[in-house]
Amino acid sequence: MKRTIIEVFLALALIGAGAFGWLNWQQNQKSSSQLKALQTAADEAAKSLQTSGESVKAAEEKAESLREQLTPMEAQLQELAAVKAGLSSGATLADLQAAYKAKKKLSDEQQVGLAAVLLLTKGSNDPATLEAFRKTLKTSDLGNRKNTICSAQMALIAGGEKVDLLAECKPSSAAAEGKESKAEPEEKGGAHGKAESHGKGESHDKAGKSDKTEKSDKAEKSDKKAGHDSKHEWGYDGLMGPERWGKEFPTCAKGKSQSPLDIQGPFVKARTSVSADYKEGPLKIINNGHTIQVNVAPGSKLRIDSVPHDLLQFHFHRPSEEKINGVPMAMVIHFVHKNAAGKLAVLGVLLKEGNENPGIKTLWDNLPTAEGAESSPEGVKFNPASLLPREFEFYSYEGSLTTPPCTEGVSFFILRTPVNVSSVQVGKFPFKNNARPVQPRNGREIVMN
Ligand SMILES: [Zn+2]
Repeated sequence: MKRTIIEVFLALALIGAGAFGWLNWQQNQKSSSQLKALQTAADEAAKSLQTSGESVKAAEEKAESLREQLTPMEAQLQELAAVKAGLSSGATLADLQAAYKAKKKLSDEQQVGLAAVLLLTKGSNDPATLEAFRKTLKTSDLGNRKNTICSAQMALIAGGEKVDLLAECKPSSAAAEGKESKAEPEEKGGAHGKAESHGKGESHDKAGKSDKTEKSDKAEKSDKKAGHDSKHEWGYDGLMGPERWGKEFPTCAKGKSQSPLDIQGPFVKARTSVSADYKEGPLKIINNGHTIQVNVAPGSKLRIDSVPHDLLQFHFHRPSEEKINGVPMAMVIHFVHKNAAGKLAVLGVLLKEGNENPGIKTLWDNLPTAEGAESSPEGVKFNPASLLPREFEFYSYEGSLTTPPCTEGVSFFILRTPVNVSSVQVGKFPFKNNARPVQPRNGREIVMN
């Protein structure tokens, strides 16, 4: 019975310690994505208990209830304070130490559990706590105990230790996902991810500075050492290519209304009217690691059956993501809009190789070739209308963002008339391939006017 109680306590303490470490480490960042990572750690902790019957069940129930309480940060803090207060007498610690005394070697779980109780009992500055976590790190094998080790690393960092935080333990992937799933359309999220400059070793720092200031230099260093830029968790080829997006962003794999499509008949006759009312404004251009994007000041609108949709940004894909009867064009521009109800609409303008495009010339004259922050070259104005064809016939269908998190509920209007782009201009676009492959139609209607 005593063993059962101890094991349950261990589960709680481990979860608590991980959370505690996180909060100490990044107390200024109130991000829900961290909670996600904590929840994963909680999952892992519950799973890793090598006990039988009721104790595991009880631990899982406790873990589950703790998880629920983790959701709002305030509640979590209170909960942790309560766990800490409960352990403050040191009786549990004494029990644990007594129980483990006879053993020659503690398992990783026991080791980290002991360290966790130490942390909560004596605080993160206690040398014995730090030593216990250090032992955990020495004996653990990262492969199957990632979250346990991450918890221990976080706790050590919380205690002011110099720890090279493993790339796998960094919160950036969850944070980035959280940021993107605000459904700020497509690459609107800004400096995030990268297809091309991977391995060239460029631009990581520049791009990351703004949202990484709270991370320690050590974390940054270990990130580089591992040769893996964890901020860039999706791309267009290899291990981060579109076939793998679904692992991190389930909608990309499971969604039934994904974009882009291969546009083919039969078509349904359109009853929708669409017109663009774009205005000139100061040029704001960014290379966000996935595409070149131009952010647009308020005032430019797309009217869909007279409902105004604000133009937020437009960006480029090479080759075009959309195919027409199986054939892609040299590039496509996606103009991303949102209406007052939050519904997204993308206007696609296909670019076919031909004469130089004067609008694109202005953009490319101010092209950020490496990933970085948005730039607004002084005195340069741009009117997105200069990139539209005169004719406004379109294909239309219901789809999704074509980049993670692949959120659905996005109306697409692909203009049937392409505009020109010269082959030199195509060649200057810094991404050789940033097009998601076409997705299954799944019986969707394609409308044509
Ligand atoms: Zn796009």
